[in-house]
Amino acid sequence: MSEQLWRKNLINITPYVAGEQPKSDKIIKLNANENAYPPSPKVRQILDSYKPEDMRRYPSADAGPLREALAKRAGLSVDNVFVSNGSDDVLATAFRAFFNSDKPIVYPDITYSFYPVWCDLLKITSRTVPVDENFHISAQSLYGQGNGGVVFANPNAPTSLAESREFVRDVLEHNKDCIVIVDQTYVDFADAGIDCLDMTKQYDNLLVTHTFSKSRSMAGMRIGEAYGSAELIKYMLAVKDSYNSYPVNRLSIETGVASVEDEEYFQATLRKVITTRESTAEQLKELGFDVPKSQTNFLFVTHPKYKAKDIFEFLREKGIFIRYFNKPRIDERLRITIGTDDEMIQMINGIKEFMQN
Ligand SMILES: *Cc1c(COP(=O)(O)O)cnc(C)c1O
Repeated sequence: MSEQLWRKNLINITPYVAGEQPKSDKIIKLNANENAYPPSPKVRQILDSYKPEDMRRYPSADAGPLREALAKRAGLSVDNVFVSNGSDDVLATAFRAFFNSDKPIVYPDITYSFYPVWCDLLKITSRTVPVDENFHISAQSLYGQGNGGVVFANPNAPTSLAESREFVRDVLEHNKDCIVIVDQTYVDFADAGIDCLDMTKQYDNLLVTHTFSKSRSMAGMRIGEAYGSAELIKYMLAVKDSYNSYPVNRLSIETGVASVEDEEYFQATLRKVITTRESTAEQLKELGFDVPKSQTNFLFVTHPKYKAKDIFEFLREKGIFIRYFNKPRIDERLRITIGTDDEMIQMINGIKEFMQN
């Protein structure tokens, strides 16, 4: 009998599962933490004046103009900024560049589910540490002589909770022999005093990642960035140049710069999302939900009487997509992205209808 042995050599991987992308426009889509509002009107202007003949030319290999705009905004030098195709690619590049130890890298058990996917794919050994019963990360659990690296999201997903700057400093003080990655995807929605971007000046083993996908309303353009010491960024550029020849495209660079240069619109959009988040949280509490204080553009809720999965399925039937994770510790929770006020009213009405059934 000839067993087909080549199958043994196929990659063994559990793929990342993203929020479902519905085909219909009528769907209310609150399942991928995308922004409820469009990007800056300055982005619109770039598109209106874009000359298709510019597409003939390759883009800047290192997304130079965008790195410069980001560096300027952050008060850093261009050597401290790395840009790639979404922060998922930024993270993949960082994992390749920095997690080459034979010691395991460490991350919380409840966090962004791309970290285990990259570890799997890149054959990086890892160890998870449990978040506490309130879903907070313990700094001590990340201390380590034995760490090959540390990665966590702050604010964290899907928990929506943030840890303090003191927490980040504590983790850094206890991890001087490895690289610490802080994924700040949601930091723009958080209270002042959470952002630790400036700490990259003090800790040359700190890498802070960020993305245009959530707070800048540009998930479809695939832009993500990282900030760190010039040494870290140099290694990331070297890895990017050698394993992928897929620079950020011209249109993403130009629209990205336009977004970064419109601080006023950016702040106004953040305020709108935060205001809606707070009022939605209040309404869900009135319906009996437990709603931890979110520092993101989503809520992570549970109800003592109703099954999360049943609510999720009921809303789905009505064309309202939220996120349910069939995973240990969080299978009684729902993650609801903050949409427009109107979308939130429809979502709340859907839940009320569910409760009356
Ligand atoms: C959405 C998200 C990302 C990825 O963002 P992209 O830039 O779209 O790849 C990274 N980390 C966390 C925690 C996220 O929620």
